[in-house]
Amino acid sequence: MNDHLVRILSKDGSLRAVAAATSNLTRTICQRQGTDPTAAVALGRLVTGTALMGALLKGQQRLALMIEGNGPLQRLHTETDADGHVCGSVKNPLTGLPPKDDRFDVAGAIGAAGFLHVIKDLGLKEPYRGMVQLYTSEVAEDLAYYLTTSEQVPSTVGLGVNLDETLNITTAGGFLVQAMPGGDDALLATLEDRLQQLPSVSSLMRDGNSPLQILEQIFEGIPFTVQAETALEFRCNCSLTQVAGMLRQLSADEVRVMIEEDQGAEVTCEFCKETYTFTADELKALPQLKN
Ligand code: ZN
Repeated sequence: MNDHLVRILSKDGSLRAVAAATSNLTRTICQRQGTDPTAAVALGRLVTGTALMGALLKGQQRLALMIEGNGPLQRLHTETDADGHVCGSVKNPLTGLPPKDDRFDVAGAIGAAGFLHVIKDLGLKEPYRGMVQLYTSEVAEDLAYYLTTSEQVPSTVGLGVNLDETLNITTAGGFLVQAMPGGDDALLATLEDRLQQLPSVSSLMRDGNSPLQILEQIFEGIPFTVQAETALEFRCNCSLTQVAGMLRQLSADEVRVMIEEDQGAEVTCEFCKETYTFTADELKALPQLKN
């Protein structure tokens, strides 16, 4: 199954939902980051949650999520746009945490204390910035908690990443259900009850359900229309121009240190791990050294 998401709206307009298959995306990002299994599950959940929330963006809007916690992962960072391009990184990809009772200790890897930051570039002068304390550090509940309390849209989120016996990522995916303003909160409560009865999103993905099939099970008996179907893929926005722009922001002294001590500069993108190399001569040509 190709990675994609499906966004639906209930016929009465009171509920919207998104489901996504993110297996390749998760695999690609975790390979680039060099994650161990527990880090892969944590990062895969955030990548999937980011893709789901990205389905609610329009046009040129962008979204970034950052989880900073006191666990070994330290910081997880993801970005997406309205067209299904997603990237993600983790500060420390090696948690050293073994699976516990057949489960990956995501909450332990992230840490119980910390924050979820949400940055939305909506094309306005300043980006929108939201922040909540971590709720369970399992990612799905943290995103639902943020959406419900900070954005005040009652939401429920399910995220799943499956690994095989050799600890390779096999499937990943998730869903997001939201009650629309003025909609029927009782209907969302009914759905939450139903979600308790349904198999976890991990098992639904493992059994080969597509995003639409997952939504059909959650919305059984509730008529809905499909509003969008978007392919998901890894894409990093870094470029030589952008990295050179970053170098222009440094002070003249910082650049002189790079020239004298390193005879140049190497900048590695946190998301795709591409390395950009600048020679001492190229650094000497920076505008801040011209005065
Ligand atoms: Zn990059």
